[in-house]
Amino acid sequence: MTDIPLSHVFTYTDVDRAYWAEHLEDWMPARLVDAHVHFMDDRYRIETITEAMRRQYWVNELVAAQPAETLAHCYRTVYPGRAVTCVGMGFAGLGWETEGGNAYVIEQARRYGWRALAVVRPTWVAEQVAWLLDQPGVIGVKPYYSLIGWDRDTRDRYLEASIFDFLPHHQLEVLNDRRAWVTLHVPKADRLGHPDNLREIREIRRRYPRIILVIAHLGRSYTLPHAEEGLLPLADEEGLYFDNSAVLNPAVHALALRALGPSRILYGTDNPVFYLRGRRQWHGRTYVNRTSYPFYFNREREAPEIEATYTLYMYEALKALKDACAAVGVGRAGVEAMLHDNAARLLRTANTQE
Ligand SMILES: [Zn+2]
Repeated sequence: MTDIPLSHVFTYTDVDRAYWAEHLEDWMPARLVDAHVHFMDDRYRIETITEAMRRQYWVNELVAAQPAETLAHCYRTVYPGRAVTCVGMGFAGLGWETEGGNAYVIEQARRYGWRALAVVRPTWVAEQVAWLLDQPGVIGVKPYYSLIGWDRDTRDRYLEASIFDFLPHHQLEVLNDRRAWVTLHVPKADRLGHPDNLREIREIRRRYPRIILVIAHLGRSYTLPHAEEGLLPLADEEGLYFDNSAVLNPAVHALALRALGPSRILYGTDNPVFYLRGRRQWHGRTYVNRTSYPFYFNREREAPEIEATYTLYMYEALKALKDACAAVGVGRAGVEAMLHDNAARLLRTANTQE
């Protein structure tokens, strides 16, 4: 069959159809919630991505705005026959027009029956956050440390910030009142296991218990050491949720399933980045992204016969989750909880006065 365009330079090919049929068709539930996905129209892009920026950070080469129509088309393509909804957000960074981008996400989420997270700047007053939570379809917010300040040369200028530097208490109070959903991408080079992160997350849970707090990317635990340092200390923190977006590592998924159980894990893709074609390899605390597209970061190519077998990273992530479920003994109820039921349940109460 012919290739189907996805987003950016990515396509859906016969390799992907075969991979879906072999590994995923019988395993994926009929209904799905993608609890972490980005969509945006390119007209809200302020910053021009320079060659230097493309070389500086691999994701800069992959963040092409995926408009809502493209996301809907991609869902039909990559999850054939499935009923899919999502928790969608724009891009959290000062290279995008924040207010216009939020308005776009809200409008499109309403059109497609999705739910929206508003990108929030730490300088905003409580009333601005409250106003966003009053908009139809908005269930919560997406803060991010690079919204603290602008730096053309690096997105990591504020990497070592405190969570409260980009998610201040006056905003947390409103979010708590509204029982809002917060998808939190944790700061620090040491990731989730940094003592400040662990302490501040526990503080948020204690002071703002009505917030639906979802730690993104299993706390940026892409390697097993990072997962052990971050997830194990929070294993007993009932009511704290994690999305598993961007995690391709079967050992990390298995550890998360053992430490947290399937009732606290939400499936997410982090697309459009994870339409990337290839595979990831891990060495201690680092990883290498293998792909067949000639990006700058793609310095060490694998043999053509290996590259020919590459499928989408999002499929690799699902296969890793499936293998981890088998290894840990998670049955159908657990699979359906992660891929649909947990998020669906939380969406019923998020940003309500119940
Ligand atoms: Zn993301």
